[in-house]
Amino acid sequence: MFTQPLAGARAIRVVACVVASVVVLFTSAAYAQGERHQHGASTLEISLEKNTLAIRWESPLNDLIGFEHAPRSAKEKAAAQNLLSLLDDPSSAFKPNSEAMCRMVAKSITAPNLSDIQTKHTGDASTHDHDHAVHSDLDYSVTYHCSSPDALSQLDIRALTTWPAIKDIDASLVGPGGQASQEANQGAKTIDLKTIAVAR
Ligand SMILES: [Zn+2]
Repeated sequence: MFTQPLAGARAIRVVACVVASVVVLFTSAAYAQGERHQHGASTLEISLEKNTLAIRWESPLNDLIGFEHAPRSAKEKAAAQNLLSLLDDPSSAFKPNSEAMCRMVAKSITAPNLSDIQTKHTGDASTHDHDHAVHSDLDYSVTYHCSSPDALSQLDIRALTTWPAIKDIDASLVGPGGQASQEANQGAKTIDLKTIAVAR
């Protein structure tokens, strides 16, 4: 059969297709395991340095919009668009106590499977195909400038109210007062910032 050019070409195409499938499966499996992604469970990284409060939140997309593939139907696209609109205002997700006088100075939203919607959202016409991932996370970072960082006492985790599918949030904190780990959940929607805000 290898003397026939047509059959040979077909064989090569078949091999190429099998290789491509293996790569996609491997990528999906590696992503699902490597990201420790468990539906209902989010992580927060909170750091305070001088006047800068930085928060990074990682959540399974499933908890925010009910699916993790690139949106296909009109309903899914609307859900993704709504999520991005909510994240335009960080107080949908969390809010430092007002006494610290924190204002947002930067934010970033990374959600690979929403990138087509996201680029349209921000006016960039480029498109990508990320439909291969089985699991997908939102990675959301917000940086605040706080005029009175010593007065930081509490971070309201409004995300637990905005997105009730979130069950547990593991938070790691670091600041002048040291390091701490805390958990927020549907029964306790705040993180105590006093332990890290002031040097002991
Ligand atoms: Zn998932």
